Amino acid sequence: MNLADVKTIELLLKPAGFDFKKSLGQNFLINEAVCPAMAKAACDENTGVLEIGPGIGVLTVELSKVAKRVVAIELDDRLRKILPKTLAECNNVEVIFGDAMKLDLAGIIAEKFADCDRVCVCANLPYYITSPIIMMLLESKLPIDNVTVMVQKEAAERLCAEVGSRESGAITVAVNYYAEPEILFEVDRFSFMPPPKVDSSVIKLNVRKEPPIKLNNEKAFFALVKAAFAQRRKTLVNTVSNTTGINKDDLRQALEELGLSPTVRSEQLTLEQLASLSNKLN
Ligand code: SAM
Repeated sequence: MNLADVKTIELLLKPAGFDFKKSLGQNFLINEAVCPAMAKAACDENTGVLEIGPGIGVLTVELSKVAKRVVAIELDDRLRKILPKTLAECNNVEVIFGDAMKLDLAGIIAEKFADCDRVCVCANLPYYITSPIIMMLLESKLPIDNVTVMVQKEAAERLCAEVGSRESGAITVAVNYYAEPEILFEVDRFSFMPPPKVDSSVIKLNVRKEPPIKLNNEKAFFALVKAAFAQRRKTLVNTVSNTTGINKDDLRQALEELGLSPTVRSEQLTLEQLASLSNKLN
């Protein structure tokens, strides 16, 4: 069964009365080349793969061919009737129905992937929760090697931007703290059914074993980063002071001691400079 074929998808979905739910980010892949490439980039025969949102299983089947084991988490109960058919020949796949944002992923990894050398997350993510899912995966410090996911092209550019460049934001800093991000390839909007309004990119976040910077207080660092990027048009001093109430003179002095201009914008600071500023303020 070719799950990237439009006719096959219609034959599967129509009798089940399935209609695509925009609220669940349901844009299914119909480009045959994409899923094998994602699977190859994410895992090998010793890897346990956690997939979020299998849909009808087009990526799941390809992951199953490459990986040791696949656990796919799907929120939409209507796929309970369809997935057993499409995944019938995949003996190393298990589907769990539930919300990936609410399930105990650490528990699932420990239970299902104990005999795997490494674990990764691979998914064509539902776009309405791209950032929350990525941040949840990284912040919960799951024992994962990489997160290889399809996201909107603009989100990919923001997530994988260099910290200190115009494209960077608070999420760029967070992603770079936990992982080394890279954009793998672009996928145009017509590779999906129904086509979304924007093109997409597959990105790979190679999770770091150790953070690249030394922080006195991780929580304070992320609070500072959130404040620093809250008002992008303002200088760092103004936006941080407005958002956190930290005295402007203290901020100017800290910047000066780091050899930075008091009128610097947050997007001009590197990860190391943001870390030094946070450490100085704490
Ligand atoms: N993997 C399929 C593909 O590539 O064609 C489907 C991808 S579609 C972009 C996103 C999938 O995520 C849908 O199947 C949707 O029902 C599911 N989904 C949405 N929110 C979810 C959540 N919170 N937890 C798990 N799955 C979710």
